[in-house]
Amino acid sequence: MPNRAAHLILVPLLALLASCIAGLPPLPPLPPTYDDNCAPSHTEYLTKARDRQHRLAPSELAGDMAAMRDYCWAQTTSRGWLIAIKAEKDPSAGWSTTIPTPVPTVALTRRWSELDTESQAATICHELVHVKQAGELGTTVFLGLWLTSHGRFALEVPAFSDSLSVHEAAGQDVTPSARLETWAELADEVGRRPQLDADRFVEKYRLSDLPISTMPHDCAVRWAEQIWSEGRSPLPSE
Ligand SMILES: [Zn+2]
Repeated sequence: MPNRAAHLILVPLLALLASCIAGLPPLPPLPPTYDDNCAPSHTEYLTKARDRQHRLAPSELAGDMAAMRDYCWAQTTSRGWLIAIKAEKDPSAGWSTTIPTPVPTVALTRRWSELDTESQAATICHELVHVKQAGELGTTVFLGLWLTSHGRFALEVPAFSDSLSVHEAAGQDVTPSARLETWAELADEVGRRPQLDADRFVEKYRLSDLPISTMPHDCAVRWAEQIWSEGRSPLPSE
């Protein structure tokens, strides 16, 4: 990674760590540890994952997926963000992401034009959650959270919740068994990707001496499923 990119990542992370150690509100504390039952030593990241303030309100959800996509698109650009489609040669071109600095941009997968309208709506509404999160937290804290598995978990659970809400608004199967399957898939995604990224980051910059722990994958999956099931009708196994 070029020096400038490393600088962009390291400075926010170290600022976040310094702020955490200094105990300055409202930054999140250092990541918790988990016992054998996935009970955390503190619940701040779980509370953040449960936060509904950046999600679409039920009144904003529409069954017309073109209207849904256009609504989330307009909500994104009205906040001053650019929306761009990733270049073919970009190594991360296969997925969409939110880049708050230097120019706040939602970078869409290069396959954007091949996605059906429902997938486009779910994708842009997912990224809108991150846009709102970045707006509230500020670039430093947002990137700091992005770089730890606990932080990514806290950011991704609400975003994937809205992806799911959009698919449900489109009339996708919302029977309990179908939801359980979708949740398991999403929970695995939320648990796996942040952990891989965080592990690589810690290894690459030899940060293992710093008090950064990664969220255990099985705990991420378990907690994501638990949070997604809250506020919905009970599943058969509950
Ligand atoms: Zn996301």
